Formats: sequence, C-alpha cells, structure tokens
Amino acid sequence: MTRSAFGGVVLLLMAAAVAAVFFTRCEGTPPVVGVAGPIALGAAARDVAVEITDAGAGVRSFEAAVVHAGGEIPLAGRDFGGSVIPFLGASAKQQSAPLSIDAKALGLAQGEAKLRVSARDLSWRDWTRGNQTVVEVPLSIDFRPPMLSLAPGIKYAKRAGSVLFVYDVSDDTEVHGVEVGDRFYPGLPVAGEGVPASRRFVLFPLSQELPADVKIRIVAIDGAGNRAERTPQINIKDRAYPEEKIVLPERFLSEKVPDLAGATGVAFSGDPVATFQEINTRIRQENEAKIREVTAESANEPYFSGAFQQMKDSQVRSSFAERRSYFVADAKVSESIHYGYDLASLAGAPIQASNRGKVVFAEELGIYGGCVIIDHGLGLHTLYGHLSSISAQVGDVVEQGQEIGRSGQTGLAGGDHLHFAILLRGVYVDPVEWWDAKWVREHVESLLAAAKQ
Ligand SMILES: [Zn+2]
Repeated sequence: MTRSAFGGVVLLLMAAAVAAVFFTRCEGTPPVVGVAGPIALGAAARDVAVEITDAGAGVRSFEAAVVHAGGEIPLAGRDFGGSVIPFLGASAKQQSAPLSIDAKALGLAQGEAKLRVSARDLSWRDWTRGNQTVVEVPLSIDFRPPMLSLAPGIKYAKRAGSVLFVYDVSDDTEVHGVEVGDRFYPGLPVAGEGVPASRRFVLFPLSQELPADVKIRIVAIDGAGNRAERTPQINIKDRAYPEEKIVLPERFLSEKVPDLAGATGVAFSGDPVATFQEINTRIRQENEAKIREVTAESANEPYFSGAFQQMKDSQVRSSFAERRSYFVADAKVSESIHYGYDLASLAGAPIQASNRGKVVFAEELGIYGGCVIIDHGLGLHTLYGHLSSISAQVGDVVEQGQEIGRSGQTGLAGGDHLHFAILLRGVYVDPVEWWDAKWVREHVESLLAAAKQ
C-alpha cells in the first residue's frame, strides 16, 4: 500500500469513528424518571426517592420543584458532571436524586400540589442540551394528625407485667399501637358485632429490663406521617431480681455436661466447666433467638380464655427473673437470668396445656431439652421445657388441661421438673399474673368486654 492510500484509509476510519460517535451521541431517547406517587405530605419532612436512568448517552442533570396554585418552588437541582464529549468524562447511566420535602418549611397550604421532576441526558440533541423528560406526581398536603382517644385503663403495672390499653383512632390512621421506649407494638382492631369501627386495643409486655424512666405512648400515624400520641398515666412498680447461687455437683459436671454437649452439638473439650460455660452462654443465646423466631407470629384472635393453669400439684422450685450464679466449689463459673418458673412434681408427671392454644413448636431445644411452645393468640405464648417425652404436634389445637408431654430433666436441668415460661410479643413476662383469675378478669377480659360497647 502506498503512503497516500494508507493515509486515505486512516482518514476514512477516523471519519467512520466520528460518524459512529455522532450517531450514538445524537440518540433521541430521553431519560426515564422514576418517582413513586401520589405522595402524602404531613407536618414532618418526607424523603422521596428519585431515580433517573438513561441507557443512551447517560444522565446529565435534574431539577425538582413543587408546583402549587400560587406558583412554583424550586426544591433541588444537580448537574451530575458527565461530559457531552465522549472520553472527556464518565457518564452514568443511572443517578439517584433523593429529595426531602418539608411542606411546612416550604409554606405549602393544606390541599393539592404537584412535584415536578425534569431531567436531561448527555445527548447532542437540542443543540447539545440533551433530551429532556418532565414528570409530575400529585402531592396531597395534610397537617392534621389522626384522632386518637385513650380509654381509661389500669393505673398500676409491674415490671415484667402485661398491660392492655383500649383506644379509638380515626379512619385515616395507617399505623397504631404502643411505643415502649424504642420498642413498638402494633395494636389490633377490637373484633365483634356492633363494635365501633374506630376501636383498637394493644396487649404488650413491660420487660423486666425496662429503664426506670421509660416512656410509654399510644400512637396513631396517618399516611402523611402525621402523628398523634397519648401518654397513659401508669405507674410501673419496680421488681427485684432474686439472687440464687447454684453449686454444680460433681455428677452434673461428669455426666450431664458431656450428654448436653452431645445434644447441643458442642464439641466436648474434656473440660466440663468450659463446656458448661459455652452451653450456658452461646447455646442459651441461640436457643433464645429460636424462641424469638417461633413467637414472632401469633393469632390475631385469642385462643385462650380465663386464667392460665399452673402445673397441677407442683412445687415452685424457682421463680421469675432469678439472677443465677453458678459455682464449682467456691469459684463462680457462669451466670444467667431465669425467665420462668421451675415447677416440680413426680418424675414423669403429665404436662398439660396451660390454656387453649395452637402448638407452634414441639422438639428438642438445647438447654430447654424437650420443648413445647403454644400460641394462645394476641401475642401470648407458653413454653414448657425439660420434657422427657412430647405427645403434641405442631399445628395441634390443644384444650386447657390437655396433655402435651411428660416432665423430665432433658436440657440444662439438674432434676425432673417443668420449666414454664410465658412470652408476650416475644418478651418474657411473669406468669403469676396470667395464673391469677382475678388479674386476667380485671386487666384483660373486662377491658376487652367494655371495649365492645
Ligand atoms: Zn427453669
């Protein structure tokens, strides 16, 4: 090939490249603006996600404004900094443009308005200004919080106790329930014929670990995020942690610990104290996590009625929230808090469902050994541990007093007994209240009965 022919080919190739760039850069497809609407704005600022994509030349810029009857208020705008000249700067095919709209701060009036988002791409169209897309989404502005009224309820409760409140909300309410510190428990409608449609209730735990100055608030929040709250006048009585010292007997360490290691999948190191420590911490934590998972769901209707039954002819061996220290000889080797009751009767005694409910767990569970968990509805569960045999199956609806297994000493147990616990919304509460017919009547049943009128 001659020199001039070679130059001609190079020129041709360059011209082709320029033409290719020109054609791709002159693409006529405008960017796509993704913003979900309609948007309800309340008294608090609301975050709105905006996604802009442009498969061709890439996203150049966006502008957002609120358009209302009185005019237009610019909200945000940004040039993403891509270059219209290829190779001079990266161009992104997708950009996020998060907005925060504070209707109050913008001086918007109650009523309707629009959010307008316009975006341009890096195309050479429109004299290199790019293709443009304009999207409008309806805004509704409402600063009024929902109506919320709290019925008179109980004035006194105990740490580790259970509490029920009845309240009414207006029909614009989307989320309602009780805040206990940083925990939120959603409420439920009060079911029944002729019950006002506005009526709600919430049954929730006061955990043993609540801080002394915990804030309890009944809240109702509407679709615009407007929030109404009422603070119930309730006194929470403190409650001690009884101390219990447990000396681990030689036979427990030499026989029970290796067995328990096998049952819980802990490698037995030959050092029973270290193995016990691992079972009492790591395995205990795993078991508690499993219990939270199992008790996360509950029927919205009560299966239970009246008081819960305490194990028949049983002696209380240890009660709720004991702070346990475990000793080998004089040395403290471990500790735990006992969130249940230990009830002892004859070895292999029948274990009965404490109230009507649906069996949701029936198998071995680490330190709890043979374990049954029953859902009684409204967030209430009972747990039965250390069983030697289980006769109930998951899915069974059991009546109060129906046998679900036999007592034993499986799991972390030094002798034949039943470990009995009650959880409300996944939090351990003191069973004493639920065993007491008068308490159940006054703190649950009569409040719900009154709520139906
Ligand atoms: Zn126990």
